[in-house]
This record gives sequence, C-alpha cells and structure tokens, in this order.
Amino acid sequence: MPGRILVVDDVATNRLILKAKLAASYYDVIEADCGQAAFDTARKEQPDVILLDIMMPDMDGYEVCELLKACPETSHIPVVMVTASSAPKERIRGLSVGADDFLVKPINDKALFARVRNLLRVKIMFDELKLRDSTSRELGLSEFLEPGDGAERENDTVMLAPATKGQGDVWRERISRMPNVEVIGTCSEREALNMARLEQPDAIIVHQRLMEDGDSLRLISALRARPETRQAVMIYIVSDGAIETAAKALDLGTSDYVMEPFEPEELIIRLRTQLQRKHYSDQLRSNMRDGLKMAVIDPLTGLYNRRYATQHMQKIVDRAKESGNDFAVMMMDLDRFKLINDTVGHDAGDMVLKEFALRIQENVRGVDLIARMGGEEFLVVMPDAGSMVAKHVSERLRRAVESKPFVTKDGVELNITVSIGVAIASSTNCEPSALIKRADLALYAAKSGGRNLVSFHEAA
Ligand code: GH3
Ligand code: MG
Ligand code: MG
Repeated sequence: MPGRILVVDDVATNRLILKAKLAASYYDVIEADCGQAAFDTARKEQPDVILLDIMMPDMDGYEVCELLKACPETSHIPVVMVTASSAPKERIRGLSVGADDFLVKPINDKALFARVRNLLRVKIMFDELKLRDSTSRELGLSEFLEPGDGAERENDTVMLAPATKGQGDVWRERISRMPNVEVIGTCSEREALNMARLEQPDAIIVHQRLMEDGDSLRLISALRARPETRQAVMIYIVSDGAIETAAKALDLGTSDYVMEPFEPEELIIRLRTQLQRKHYSDQLRSNMRDGLKMAVIDPLTGLYNRRYATQHMQKIVDRAKESGNDFAVMMMDLDRFKLINDTVGHDAGDMVLKEFALRIQENVRGVDLIARMGGEEFLVVMPDAGSMVAKHVSERLRRAVESKPFVTKDGVELNITVSIGVAIASSTNCEPSALIKRADLALYAAKSGGRNLVSFHEAA
C-alpha cells in the first residue's frame, strides 16, 4: 500500500528520523519545518497522511490541525499528532480539533506503521467512494449531496463488549448521553457475535479482556469479516498498556483504539468522530445505489426503462433457450395520446401514463417484465407464455384501458384506448431486437387497422 506522508517538525533531526523509517517502508515522504509551511504543502501536495509535531515556534500543532480541518482542500486528510507528553488533557484537545491519533516521542515503529496503514486504508476507501460519487454525478445519476447532514437519520446503535458488567454499566451511562444513540451490550464473545448479527450495530466497542476466556482480537476480525458488521465502527480498548496490542488490533481492522486508563471524554470524542465518518461513507454508498437505480427506472411511472428492458430481455431469452418454452413480447402504445396533452394539458397526460402503468401491473403476472420504452410506449415480456396466454392477456389489457375512464385531478373523465402488437418468440427465434421489431410491426398493423386493437405478428 503505497502512500504519501507529510512529516511536520521544526527540528531537522526529528524529521530525518521519521523520514528514514517511513522511506525504508517505501512511503513517499515530504517535509515541512513550520506550521505555515505544513498548511501550504498539504494544500499543494495532497498527502495521504500528515504527521504533525505539536511544539513549533510559529503555530502550534493544534492551530495547524484546526486550519487543516477548516479548509475544504485538506479537511479529509488524516492527521496524527506527534507529542512529547501523552497527558489526557492534551489528547482530548488534539482530538477536539480533529486529529485522528497521537504518537508519543520516541516513536514506536509498530505503533507508527499500524496507524499509518489504518489511516491509508480509510483514505483509499473514501477516495474510491468519492470518485464513484463524482462519476455518478457526471452521469447525472445522483442528486446533490450534503456531507455531514444527519438531520433525519435514525439512531445509531452502539454495541459494547466490556470486560465486566460493571464496566459496561459505566460506559453505557456515559455513551447514552450522546444524542441519537442507543446502547446494547454483552461481556461474552459468543453472545457479542450473535448480537452483532441480529442488531447490526453502527459501532462496536470491544475491551481487550472479555469474559469467559473470550478472545477480543478474534472477535474483532470475525466482526470485520461479516457482511452485517463490515462497515461498522470498531473501537478497541487496550488494557495491557502495550502499543503492540493496539497495532495488532488496527491491522485486524479496528477503526480506532483507546489505551486504559482513559478519560471517558476521549472515548466519546473518538466514537463521535468515527460515527461521523461512517455517516458520510454510508451517504456516499446510498447515493450510489440511488444513482444506479435511477439509471434503470423511469421516474414518472416507476417502471423499468428501455436500457434495463433490453438488457433483461437477453436473460429471458437465455432461459427460454434452456427450457425450450415460448415467450411473448407485447408492445403497447396509447391511441391519439397527443390529443390528451393538447386538450387537457401535459399534467393530465402524465396522470394517464401513470394510471396506464398501474393498470398494466394489475393485469400481468409478477414474473412478467414491464418497461416504459419511451413516450406513451410500453413493453411487456411474458416468460413461458405461448400465443394462447398472450392472446388472453393482451385482450385483457386492451379492455382494462378501454373499460374504465381515466379521471384527471379536476374530475375530467377521459376515455382512453390502447393498441397492442404481439410477437411470440420460440427458443429458435428469439433475438431481442428482432422480437421488438416484430412486435412493433404488429402494433403498426393495429394502429392502421383502426386502433384499440390487438394484432399478432406471425413468425415467418
Ligand atoms: P397514435 O394513436 O398514432 O399513437 O397517436 P399519438 O398521438 O398517441 O402518437 P404520437 O407519437 O403522435 O404522440 C405521442 C405524444 O406523447 C407526443 C408527446 O408529446 C407525448 N408524450 C411523450 N412523453 C410524454 C410524457 O412523459 N408526458 C406527457 N404528458 N406526454 C408525453
Ligand atoms: Mg400513441
Ligand atoms: Mg407514439
């Protein structure tokens, strides 16, 4: 995993030491020797991670971090503060200005590399999501997205896996005070796995020492591997004081860790930061899904569009070849529809199209494919249906339109009719575009035969 790391320190030797370590692991290292230079370099060079010294003459690390987090060009870049002291107060201050973590001088290599790997993984995931999001936007597939807008989101479920019930009660009391959070929990590894599967928590806090000889690291990697918790926030509470344990947890996929003893506030801030990050990535993912949906769904009627229909027809064809069964292709077009728009208006026309879509849905089977091919032209493909069934269904559809007037919202009753062209496909004569063409020819015949008719195209 290559990555570009910005090392910020006013002391040249400190920069050199870090640079040597990182370069030996093939990271691309750039440097800055003061706060202002750090900010400028970060904007220009867009590093993947910033290692930021706290004590510097021009601006201290907290101020630099605030600047970086306030600037849209750099706010997404993770920051690790490098500090001489790890007093809880300083940690909380750093976390509050947006730092991701702290490394205490002299820097432990395992802690450094595990954290860098963890932050790079997160950043690569975000870069990929953002790239896909921008592609969707360029294709016109996604609505404008406002990051961090959590106005109407559901509560977050936080699952606790503490060492003892007493500890769990303390955590629960503190975390329940966060807005829009629900807390569940258990001290057992086995129960934690079950609970996570059933409740699909947004965040999971795991203590290093679980009850009943549980293995907390094994729990972490199991949760990461499962689809229900793959995207969940995971925070590991390290109790043996060993930075190596924390490094191992990060490499197994935990999002963050806290060393015991800790101020409850540190856990809360880390949890909040991780949850915000998760909300943002969830939002990007769901935008993408909506975008993909929009690419195949007609927004007016909610039916599939032509793009989806032609793609899906190929699947129906493949299945027909396997089964040897016939299937039917129906092309429908409303009669004199232009007249509706011209006389009662475009909105009434839209209403007719929607109502027509509903009447089709009510009169075909669930397995049949219905699509709006454009304008007032609709397609129905009926798998495993021969000409008998197709005759019956198409006639029923024609009557479903003719028999009951369409009523506008102003109460105007419109008498609408539809013309239908049908082609029957056999397993040897079933090329999708040829079938649509045959159905179209039949439709044309129905129109010239006087409209409000069903016409069949007989295979040559
Ligand atoms: P025919 O019986 O020969 O099919 O006549 P027609 O008037 O139905 O056919 P034509 O193709 O001349 O007109 C189709 C009309 O459908 C023209 C177009 O303005 C209208 N139309 C296409 N899409 C929409 C839509 O989404 N909403 C509305 N209200 N009208 C639409
Ligand atoms: Mg028409
Ligand atoms: Mg038309």
